[in-house]
Amino acid sequence: MSTPSTTTHLLTFAPTRSFSHLHRLRRTVSLLRPPTLSSCPNFLTGNSHFCGMAWLLSGRGIRDSKAMVEGLQGYGVISSKKVAEVMGTIDRALFVPDGSPAYVDSPMSIGYNATISAPHMHATCLQLLEKNLQPGMHALDVGSGTGYLTACFALMVGPKGRAVGIEHIPELVSSSIENIQKTAVAPLLKEGSLSVHVGDGRLGWPEFAPYDAIHVGAAAPEIPQPLIDQLKPGGRMVIPVGNLYQDLKVVDKNMDGSLSIRTETSVRYVPLTSREAQLRGY
Ligand code: SAH
Repeated sequence: MSTPSTTTHLLTFAPTRSFSHLHRLRRTVSLLRPPTLSSCPNFLTGNSHFCGMAWLLSGRGIRDSKAMVEGLQGYGVISSKKVAEVMGTIDRALFVPDGSPAYVDSPMSIGYNATISAPHMHATCLQLLEKNLQPGMHALDVGSGTGYLTACFALMVGPKGRAVGIEHIPELVSSSIENIQKTAVAPLLKEGSLSVHVGDGRLGWPEFAPYDAIHVGAAAPEIPQPLIDQLKPGGRMVIPVGNLYQDLKVVDKNMDGSLSIRTETSVRYVPLTSREAQLRGY
């Protein structure tokens, strides 16, 4: 996709220290503790934990999705075969701004005060939702941005399922559709089982509800009620909740309609907000 000419301010990627310092810090952390997802601290820069993935962050020697996936497997971030296959198939390079290092494990600006999440965050969310992304299921991606995760969802739920992206910046919706058209799930876009819409994601997308899986790619001050309402009994939502410091919440809707909510990890995402607030820099 091409980089929009509007601001490229990076809310979720604002390092206050040099990269070399972070590399050293991460190396130390990896020596102190095995790099499991749950044990990793949340440093300032990304939308999540850094797990001693210095080489992945530098992107050195990573030339394709397959190598990126192998790196994430090596560091214990990806354990699911299915997620490895999907992230190996949907090429991240088709979704990042032209000239960006596509396979570096870091969020990147996509313009409009938005970012594409880091590969390890995409992997984490796909794994948390995997059971609810089986063929034939319905998935909603709120704040779909580049469309990367929506495309991954579509590959998982297949032509008998439904993958729906919702994004409130019309230019991002257009470019995400262009990105998806270059991937293996382009036919699903044509058939209509994959769609991306302009709208306020806080309201969900009732047309294709209820959803087995809901992913929210921006941090909400609290879980929006319409998203809870559009979650199927037995369904799961993954949503960052909070303001500056946020928790990635896993929300399971039980068969009786009650909710079980747990915190997976600490994260840092851009806010789920109004279009106006986002464009003026929050
Ligand atoms: N998951 C996407 C984008 C993450 S950035 C990716 O990895 O490519 C979060 C996205 O949420 C941004 O694109 C932003 O424009 C969008 N967003 C924020 N608030 C929103 C809202 N109320 N409704 C719809 N989209 C929203």
